[in-house]
Amino acid sequence: MATALKFAAPELDETTIAGVVDVLRSGQLTSGPWVQAFERELSNFCAGRPVRTLTSATAAIEVALQLCGVGPGDEVITGAQSFFTVLNMIVKVGAKPVFVDCDLVTRNIDLAQVEAAITPATRAIIPTHYPGALLDMDALFALARRQKLRVIEDAALVIGSRWKGWNIGAFGDLVSFSFHPNKNITAIEGGALVLNDESEARQVESLRFHGITYLPDRTRDVAYPGGKFNLPDVNARIGLAQLARLPQFLAKRRALVDRYFSSFVTDPECVLPPKPNPDDGYSWNMFCILLPLDRLTIDRKQFRDALAARGIATGMSYEALHLSTLGRKMGGHEGVHSNAERIARETVTLPLHTAMSEADVDHVCTVVAEIIAGGKAQ
Ligand SMILES: *Cc1c(COP(=O)(O)O)cnc(C)c1O
Repeated sequence: MATALKFAAPELDETTIAGVVDVLRSGQLTSGPWVQAFERELSNFCAGRPVRTLTSATAAIEVALQLCGVGPGDEVITGAQSFFTVLNMIVKVGAKPVFVDCDLVTRNIDLAQVEAAITPATRAIIPTHYPGALLDMDALFALARRQKLRVIEDAALVIGSRWKGWNIGAFGDLVSFSFHPNKNITAIEGGALVLNDESEARQVESLRFHGITYLPDRTRDVAYPGGKFNLPDVNARIGLAQLARLPQFLAKRRALVDRYFSSFVTDPECVLPPKPNPDDGYSWNMFCILLPLDRLTIDRKQFRDALAARGIATGMSYEALHLSTLGRKMGGHEGVHSNAERIARETVTLPLHTAMSEADVDHVCTVVAEIIAGGKAQ
């Protein structure tokens, strides 16, 4: 039997591990030179726009909302098909999440529905980017400019994706990245926020560190209850090394995804992600399928358990935000966002990480095909 296949597997080289030991011996453990170096490299990656690191993408989204002045009485439009971070942070700053549906295949938010959801209370749009195909970014920013709305891109999954030759983060408004171990690059935990100018960067430095500002005599003041989201240097040291390897990681992930597209055949058919375009630089963090559950006798849990029994770990991305208990408290209910709800019911994330081989992908495809064939309704 093939060895067990993990769902994700971050790749840390020996130089990075030795580098972490050097940071630990240096005595500068947090808010030090490695954080500055990592932020400089992230800024280079984002065409020179200012970037500030935080302890997670979740912190980055919270701080981004605070930076935009979003609070009680404000509405923020976001996709019903996303990770809990987005719902949580909108509610945490006191604003109201307004959900819209997504495309079934790309999972990107539907801009026509965004436009229809705008009210005088709307302050911002938070689109979540998915592996495979980006939202029409020109149309998104044209809409945001026309309606005078801020855009906070949830780019946790897509560092390395490009739009018309530009890296995500190199243009736009506010952009949030994650360096959780399951993402394209890791800092153990960590996140970053791409900003428009130095004034925003200074505000983020305050918001991520207790809300502290300095008076002319260098005594400290607090006017806003800031968080404690500054990244330790150990994490920045790892993130910096990982960023240098991003092109190599992405090439490997793309090759594995090409293999998924050529090897994946089931009866009945699954809905696959959008086919990659070789020029687009799209980053592939996950390979998510939709199961044809209405033509199967097994349910999703049985499908995932059968894969786990054959040594293949899977994930689920994502539940529908408006149907979570918190989403329902904010007015969410069934039957309004049918694509997000169908994805929430049918989605399964298959293993995809740089430690895999093309033979591993073939193995996953074979096992998936067997389990689906075995569970086919007559
Ligand atoms: C992982 C993820 C987040 C949260 O990132 P953290 O760094 O763990 O806070 C947010 N949004 C999406 C789409 C994600 O995949």
